[in-house]
Amino acid sequence: MTFSTDFTDFTGFVYETRPVRVVFRPGASVTAIPEEAQRLGLRRLLVVCGNRGETDARAVADSLGDTCVGLHAEARMHVPVEVADRTVAVARAAGADGCVAVGGGSAIGLGKAIALRTGLPLIAVPSTYAGSEMTPVWGLTEHGVKRTGRDPVVQPRSVVYDPDLTLSLPVPLSVTSGINALAHAVEALYAPDTSPLVSLMAQEGVRAMAGALPRLAAEPADLDTRSRALYGAWLCGSCLGATTMGLHHKLCHVLGGTFGVPHAETHTVLLPYVLAYNAPTVPQAMAALNAALDTQDAPRALRDLAVGLGAPRSLAELGLTEGDLTVVAERVTGNQYANPRPVTAEDVLGVLRAAYEGREPTVPS
Ligand code: NAD
Repeated sequence: MTFSTDFTDFTGFVYETRPVRVVFRPGASVTAIPEEAQRLGLRRLLVVCGNRGETDARAVADSLGDTCVGLHAEARMHVPVEVADRTVAVARAAGADGCVAVGGGSAIGLGKAIALRTGLPLIAVPSTYAGSEMTPVWGLTEHGVKRTGRDPVVQPRSVVYDPDLTLSLPVPLSVTSGINALAHAVEALYAPDTSPLVSLMAQEGVRAMAGALPRLAAEPADLDTRSRALYGAWLCGSCLGATTMGLHHKLCHVLGGTFGVPHAETHTVLLPYVLAYNAPTVPQAMAALNAALDTQDAPRALRDLAVGLGAPRSLAELGLTEGDLTVVAERVTGNQYANPRPVTAEDVLGVLRAAYEGREPTVPS
C-alpha cells in the first residue's frame, strides 16, 4: 500500500512543529526517564498517575531514585478541578521542578493541569492510545462542565512510549482506545488546518492502528502488535495536536461532559456516523481514508472493525436515552466550531439517532 499527497489540497497550509522529544522502546518507562529528566535539567520530579496505574508509576518513580520527590496517584477522568488543586499543592510542597505523568489520558491530563498552573515541564508516559501526550490541549472539569484550552506550556516536553506498559490494557479498552486514536486522524484529514504532512501521518496512523487492532484482539500479549498500535497512536495523536477537530470531537466532548459516558467507547460508537455525515463534503479525505483502510466505504469499515472486535455498537448501549440526544444536539449547535459540512440541530439529531440505534452508517448521496 502506498500513501500519497495526491489526496492533499495544495492551495496553501500552515504546519507548526513543537519542541517535543519522543522515545519509543519496550521497557523505556523504566530505562529512559532519568535521561529525559537530565536533558531537561530536572532534578525534583513529581510522578502522577491514576490509582490503577500505581504499580507502573511506582516503577517509574523507583527508576528516578533521588530525583523523584513524590508519587501522587489521584488522576481521574476529565481532571476534576479539586484534584488538580490538590496535586498542584502537593507539587509545590515537594518543591518539584517537573512532573512525570504515567497512564492514560486522565493521568496525562492531570500532569497538564499542573503544567498549566505552575509552568512545570511535563514528561508523559502514555499507557493507552488516547493521544493527549502529543497535544497542547488541556481540560479541567468544574461543577459538571469541562473547559478545554490550548496552551504550549502543557505540551509534554518529552514523551516516552513503552509498548510493555500497554500489555495490561484489556482488549475491549485497547479496541475502543485504538478507535479513539483513529478518530483524531479522521478529523485531521478534513480539518481546516490540515496539511500534506498531517495527511501522511493520518494515513499511516490509520493503517498502523486499524491493522494492529484485529491482531491485538487475537493475541493481546504480542509485543510487536502492541508496538504497532502504539506507533499508530503516536501518529494519530500528532494529528490531533496539529489540527482543529470538528463535529465528532465536539459531540464526544459534550456527551462525556454532560452524561459522563466513557470517553473511548463514545468515540468508537459515533465515529462512523459523523464520518458518513461529513463524507459528501470531503472527497479527498475520504479517498485518503479509504486507501489507508483498504476499503471503498470508510464509515462502514470503521464500524465493522469496532463491532467485529466486540466494541459497543450504539449510544443506547452506553446508557443514553433518546431524550438525552436533543440536549446534546442543542448544546453542540449552540457553539461555533470547525466542521467541513454545515451543521443544524436537526442534522446533529439525525447523526445521534442513527448512533443511538446502532444502524448501518450510510453516506448520503
Ligand atoms: P483513562 O486515562 O481514564 O484510562 C481509562 C481506563 O484505563 C482507566 O480506568 C485506567 O486506569 C485504565 N488504564 C489505563 N492504562 C492502562 C493499562 N495500560 N492497563 C490497564 N488499564 C489501564 O482514559 P483514556 O481514554 O486514556 O483518556 C481519556 C481522557 O483523556 C479523557 O478525559 C479525555 O478528554 C482526555 N484526552 C485528552 C486529550 C487532549 O489532547 N487533551 C486527548 C485525548 C484524550
